[in-house]
Amino acid sequence: MAGYIAKGAVVTCSDARIADTVEGWLFARYDLGLVDRIIRPGATAYGESVLLEIVELHGLHHFPELTLAHHTDCGKLPENDRNDHIRQMKAFATRLHERIPEVIVQIALVHTHEEYVEIVETLYDVST
Ligand SMILES: [Zn+2]
Repeated sequence: MAGYIAKGAVVTCSDARIADTVEGWLFARYDLGLVDRIIRPGATAYGESVLLEIVELHGLHHFPELTLAHHTDCGKLPENDRNDHIRQMKAFATRLHERIPEVIVQIALVHTHEEYVEIVETLYDVST
């Protein structure tokens, strides 16, 4: 089934502790819609290789929005400072926007132990 259009995409960490929280949030946000998942240690931590995966996936499924979801207590990002997470995701969003300007990017923080997803900011939404 080539060429379908996904409702969204998410980039999140491989950490098993957040899997149920992320899936629950995706289910609530997109109902039963198709959402592409890019799951890597540290979410955006590998930079360019993750960007390339997103660009390739967008070329296949044309999702209109993408959520970057780092999480608290992440082993890949030892500082685990809230502002550092947000700064890193925003820097990644800037690079992503240069490649795929039409995609809305949400910055989210998954609270690992409290088990919820916090939407920090929505970027590049030209419809509002
Ligand atoms: Zn992690």
